[in-house]
Amino acid sequence: MNFDYDVTIVGAGPIGSTLAYELAKENLSVCLIDKKKLIGLPLQCAGIVNKSVLEYNQIPEELILNKVKGANLHSKNQSLSVSKEDDQAIIIDRVALDQYLYKRAIEAGADSHLSSKVVNVDTLEGQVDFQTDSKEKTIKSKLIVGADGPLSLVSSAIGNDFNYYCASQYLVEVDDIEEMSFVDLYAYEDLFPGFIWVIPAYKNIFRIGLFSNHDYRMQNEILDDFLENDFKYDDYNVIEKYKGKIPIYSKENKLFENRALLIGDAAAQVKPTTGGGLLIGFKTVQIAKKAIIDALNSKEILEDDNKILQDIFKVYQKDFEEKFLKEIFYQFKVQKTLCTLSDDDLDYFFIKLKEKKCDELISEYGDIDDQSVLVKEFLKRGLILSLLPAIHKKELAKIWLL
Ligand SMILES: Cc1cc2nc3c(=O)[nH]c(=O)nc-3n(C[C@H](O)[C@H](O)[C@H](O)COP(=O)(O)OP(=O)(O)OC[C@H]3O[C@@H](n4cnc5c(N)ncnc54)[C@H](O)[C@@H]3O)c2cc1C
Repeated sequence: MNFDYDVTIVGAGPIGSTLAYELAKENLSVCLIDKKKLIGLPLQCAGIVNKSVLEYNQIPEELILNKVKGANLHSKNQSLSVSKEDDQAIIIDRVALDQYLYKRAIEAGADSHLSSKVVNVDTLEGQVDFQTDSKEKTIKSKLIVGADGPLSLVSSAIGNDFNYYCASQYLVEVDDIEEMSFVDLYAYEDLFPGFIWVIPAYKNIFRIGLFSNHDYRMQNEILDDFLENDFKYDDYNVIEKYKGKIPIYSKENKLFENRALLIGDAAAQVKPTTGGGLLIGFKTVQIAKKAIIDALNSKEILEDDNKILQDIFKVYQKDFEEKFLKEIFYQFKVQKTLCTLSDDDLDYFFIKLKEKKCDELISEYGDIDDQSVLVKEFLKRGLILSLLPAIHKKELAKIWLL
């Protein structure tokens, strides 16, 4: 079989571009294809990431807009503040980051086609068909990576179903933000399993958004109502509105088939409770890189029979699951727990948290990405049942196998 490239990556989002860079650095021939003319636009992200992201990817200092050390958590009538001494998360200029990561991949040697919509993939042949300037083109490569986001064409080509939440976000301008080092998160029963976030991005701009089971129209109504009634500034100006999708992980979905594998939102590799996909995606790039290099080094890569390739990709799936599945399932349980609660229950929960000085515990063990650490601490101290109204005991015991 003849191939144009070692690897074609569909999708030059942050994860696709990072993988392209990593592979191009190893002198592999890589082609990056994206339907966008301008990478990164429109903004579809709150841009908050655990500061540990800096261990997994380069983020130039000038793309870090703000740093936060804590969160104010709100139920309908109660609030709780949790924080650490040091900054815990960074707020990034997500559009500029996507553009930086794309440019870095090209400078490392990756080829690219922008304004090129992939319309078909043949995972057996390694063939990708795309439309550009109303012409159809075809590329054949030894491997195809689907990094094409939550509505991934590559994922559906290998037979996966889509499952996602809608997410909406406003850019909101105020005169001057008083407190830049805390994010505000609003947990209301109507929004579960989602929530509203208020992120101080820079001097006078908040990113305010939510994900939930509602459609975009309803989400905009919820955000409008929130701004009018619950936002702490009276004078504000909505300057942009965005929307996007947050995929829901399912163990039923495949991560590979024949010559194709999936990564990032295309593989629904996001944290269930927050919808965050950047850190987990960047971490998974290293796992995928190893599998891809192993696959390209196998002599069977040039043959039709790809049993060896499937074994290598199975290792990719296994390594991903070993690293992230426990955390993902803990977070599903947290979501399930929240979905059993009413606004009154949640007020009760916050009061109890304060009574039992759990804000200190959350400050110590809380981590937006590794939430299982805190949950395990709650379980160890027998707190889960004592913090919630007795009426939920049976349900909670079932969720947490108590
Ligand atoms: C409102 C909102 C807020 C968010 N906030 C955060 C946050 O604060 N922190 C965080 O970590 N995560 C956040 N996320 C999630 C985060 O944005 C994603 O996890 C991340 O973008 C995934 O990167 P990706 O490269 O896998 O996919 P994407 O960023 O979706 O990139 C996919 C790329 O593929 C291209 N593409 C798609 N189909 C085709 C095709 N057929 N042909 C060619 N190209 C194609 C697209 O144009 C796109 O450039 C948020 C998501 C939303 C919707």
